[in-house]
Amino acid sequence: MSTDQSAAGRDEKAARIRRLLETSGSTVGETVRPFNEGRYRRYEEMEETEAYREAAREIKADAIERLPDLLEQVEDVVTENGGTVYVADDAADARRYVREVVEAADAESVVKGKSMTTEEIDLNDDLETAGIDVWETDLAEFVLQIADDEPSHIASPAVHKSREEIAALFNEHFDLEEPLTTAEELTAFAREQLTDHVLEADVGITGANFVTADTGTLALVTNEGNARKSLTVPDTHVAVAGVEKIVPSIADLSPFFSLIGPAGAGQDITAYLSLLTPPLDEPVVRFDEPDDEAFDDSSDDRSFHLVLVDNGRFAMRDDDELRETLYCIRCGACANSCANFQQVGGHAFGGETYSGGIATGWEAGVHGADSVAEFNDLCTGCSRCVEACPVNIDIPWINTVVRDRLNQGADPDAFDHLVSGLTPDDEPTGLDRGKRLFGNFETLATFGSLTAPVSNHVANFGPARAALERVAGVDRRRELPRFRRETLVDWFQSREPTRIDEPVREAVLYPDVYTNHVQVERGKAAVRALEALGVRVRVPDVSSSGRAPLSQGMIDTATAHASAVSADLEGHLEQGRDVVVIEPSDLAMFRGEYERFLDADAYERIAEHSYELFEYVFGLLEGDGPGIEALAGPSEACAIGAPASPDLAYHSHCQQRTLGLEAYTTAVLERLGYDVVTSDVECCGMAGSFGYKSEYYELSMAVGETLKDQFTADETATRTVVASGTSCLEQLDSLLERSSVHPIQVIDPGLRSELD
Ligand code: SF4
Repeated sequence: MSTDQSAAGRDEKAARIRRLLETSGSTVGETVRPFNEGRYRRYEEMEETEAYREAAREIKADAIERLPDLLEQVEDVVTENGGTVYVADDAADARRYVREVVEAADAESVVKGKSMTTEEIDLNDDLETAGIDVWETDLAEFVLQIADDEPSHIASPAVHKSREEIAALFNEHFDLEEPLTTAEELTAFAREQLTDHVLEADVGITGANFVTADTGTLALVTNEGNARKSLTVPDTHVAVAGVEKIVPSIADLSPFFSLIGPAGAGQDITAYLSLLTPPLDEPVVRFDEPDDEAFDDSSDDRSFHLVLVDNGRFAMRDDDELRETLYCIRCGACANSCANFQQVGGHAFGGETYSGGIATGWEAGVHGADSVAEFNDLCTGCSRCVEACPVNIDIPWINTVVRDRLNQGADPDAFDHLVSGLTPDDEPTGLDRGKRLFGNFETLATFGSLTAPVSNHVANFGPARAALERVAGVDRRRELPRFRRETLVDWFQSREPTRIDEPVREAVLYPDVYTNHVQVERGKAAVRALEALGVRVRVPDVSSSGRAPLSQGMIDTATAHASAVSADLEGHLEQGRDVVVIEPSDLAMFRGEYERFLDADAYERIAEHSYELFEYVFGLLEGDGPGIEALAGPSEACAIGAPASPDLAYHSHCQQRTLGLEAYTTAVLERLGYDVVTSDVECCGMAGSFGYKSEYYELSMAVGETLKDQFTADETATRTVVASGTSCLEQLDSLLERSSVHPIQVIDPGLRSELD
């Protein structure tokens, strides 16, 4: 399989995304953003959020580890309780079993509670083909059933449908005396319809959020109570759940109940938490015999079937990289927190069944790579979902691994016309040319600097841009980075060394590829600021971090970069020097992914001694060295026109937020007398190469609109814009009419000499 995308394929994808942006995008955003904000609030309010998250993860990890034993335990206990357990190997097996149960019950109609697992196995179609009426009783699923539409969210399937659309749908579909308008009218109408279906149903089918191995109890977490009705009214109950839903004991449910409502929708707790140990003891209600005794005196008529679906899950369990997917409790927080998802929803950011950040893991596991290829790139690796996830799943890593596997499936017979010989990576022939180009940005940047300014002229020459767009998908509406002839390393090595006799610290300023080749001024400012604060600084030639190849799923290449960085820095670290990092995404590599790429000692050495620039400056200011007066403040910066105003509008990088480091920048700037307004936008939309890709350009700009709105509002419109990440700076330059700089540039002591 070739992963290379044709220009037509890119255009098609761009058109699909554009259509979603223009149609359902705003409804998705208006629905899921409040969920995300609510999740922040509830995580903050709950005193034990982190303890719950750790406990939840531990329970899931243990359950997946012991899954074969727990599965046997469930089979025994449910059988003892009077039910039947069927372990289905795959979707077809699960469908067949459920259909046979339904047919054995002589059922003409079934009602269903919301269940993504039944979506996964395409149960409805199968039952309907067998002549059985199937009714969804979850309101959102009911809406989708009427609309003949697909879920667009893992937990709230109709997030793409506005109230107006639902009203129009109901008014057209049903024969109504008066049109329905309000949410109350729509809900009341649906309830009436669904109650009739529940009363007529012969079989109730539900999912299960959790199944406890010690008691055979099903835990159902819902907001409508429909699942409870669906399983108590009919005498036959079929619960369909993935095998990963098993937890060891009923006592294990507590952290999940505490987390799932807050994580998914910012609720204190979901409206219904049902614990049922079927077959139920309650007698079957005889609605069709109202004059007789309302209740039968026994529950003997009830039958219960628990269908536990494998469908690739045991293979996921054996797969070190996909295994964590099985910890997922399907709360939807990763979708809600994702800037791209907020714009287009699960119809673009999803596969056959699952959507949002974790969809890659699920789809790869249960449906295979083909279901993932189309949407996997929508994860930009910003990692905002990781702290949203109640079980701490490293969702971006799963996305990266699957991307890498897709790359590995590249067509070995294809020939890379554009980049052959220019790409010192460890990736297969046939890899998408855009990916290869972006993944080898260091090579490109080195060549660009060596040949600047010619390289910049050529790259921005119209026909060259058109060719670049056609061949590698680099959108021509984006301004390309302008390479500097003199790199930061060149500048540092050629300048007169600064004499610091008694340094407070010794540090290496890490020359990330953008600072070294493009944003050289911020590197120079950083050197001057650190030296002014008493640090003996070195800027050695060090390999790029591997962030660029990693973002394209080129894991082998990223690993090679990590090893090179480790080797390049080893001597400095042994000498006790700190590593100061300007680019937050590189620091995130050092503290995060390098744990996977390096041996434990090498990882610890680099992770423990690397600091974000402003984190480091803040630490220096707290120490005994030179104080804040060593740095430039608003008066110096204003005097030379560097900032237009002493008031700043600051946007911090997504990875910087995930690392919990944004406050250091604000603290230093405020200590210097700057008035700082910080954006609360989590993602600028650029995300490295993402915003350059022609199929994603419009989505990238759409994500950036919120940031633009914030920085053009009355309160911020005249403020100087500062941002920590290269991508953010590039995106802000595209979004705003005024330019932006890295915050180190407004505290650069070098501004003073420019005044002299
Ligand atoms: S991966 Fe985490 S955040 Fe996403 S749906 Fe699963 S549990 Fe929720």
